[in-house]
Amino acid sequence: MSARDDQRTNAPHREPEPPFPARQQSPPGIEAAMRPAPHFHAAHYRAADKLEGLAALVTGGDSGIGRAVAVLYAKEGADIAIAYLPSEEADARVTQQTIEELGQRCVLLPGDLSTASECDRAIERTVQAFGRLDILVSNAAHQVQTESLDEISDAMFDTTFRTNVYPLFWLTRAALRHMQPGAAIVATSSKTGLVGARHIPDYSATKGAINAFVKSLAVQLADKGIRVNAVAPGPVWTPLNVADPGRDAHQVAHFGEDTPLGRPAQPEEVAPAYVFLASNADASFITGIVLPVMGGETVGA
Ligand code: NAD
Ligand code: MG
Repeated sequence: MSARDDQRTNAPHREPEPPFPARQQSPPGIEAAMRPAPHFHAAHYRAADKLEGLAALVTGGDSGIGRAVAVLYAKEGADIAIAYLPSEEADARVTQQTIEELGQRCVLLPGDLSTASECDRAIERTVQAFGRLDILVSNAAHQVQTESLDEISDAMFDTTFRTNVYPLFWLTRAALRHMQPGAAIVATSSKTGLVGARHIPDYSATKGAINAFVKSLAVQLADKGIRVNAVAPGPVWTPLNVADPGRDAHQVAHFGEDTPLGRPAQPEEVAPAYVFLASNADASFITGIVLPVMGGETVGA
């Protein structure tokens, strides 16, 4: 492929393949410490002002999929608030700087979203900053692999549900006080919510709950003109798995190898699905779906 070909929007471009360096971190993980660094700039993406003048809140927008979504939304003309844990401030600053370089505003909302009050606060602060809320991306999550149910304490089970499921309910309830017809809610689900996963039954169950919530709410909000959808990624190269205390160094090195494409997705390859689902130019007749972005793995849904 010539250098000129590589500039074309539709040119195939290579993404990193396993094996990766066998590095591990502790939760929630920091993107700045990952090697190779996850790709989130989406250099081949051509924006079309699809979200011009809109305001979005992206939870977990400091890193991984959330950062790539926040950056792509900014490329499409939206102002962005990102919510994340205070220990991730360094990653959040990188997201903020990238968005500001694109000419959009980025408000930082550090805080633990596993309480209703913090979710309410995140919504209110987004509306205070931008005067509106058009898109909610409920994306933050917690995951710990285990061998058996005996390893999952009640407190761990609770943490997983309070991080992955409850905020979708709390954030949506608060967001609906501000959203107008044309608004969109996008939740991050997972392949594990569709087919289960041996080592993360609790996490997989949260994703199944998200799918059912999204489908139900899509129907409830149809006459309000608010669309509700989810994205179900397969393996993606982000801090979540590198920082999973139940995943050893060998598993990190070979992460995503078993997909038909033989590698995990980079965040920039998952983020366009979130633009698609948020954009009324693209997805005005789409609500209540769980969109798989799984590198060739298929589900019978
Ligand atoms: P990530 O670690 O970059 O993002 C997860 C984010 O969740 C963290 O950055 C953190 O800010 C946030 N978070 C966790 N606990 C929180 C809390 N209590 N309060 C506030 N924020 C909190 O990893 P990612 O892979 O980009 O994860 C984003 C989403 O993608 C998650 O919903 C995850 O379940 C989903 N997902 C990831 C994969 C994958 O292979 N990486 C696959 C399928 C689905
Ligand atoms: Mg993070």
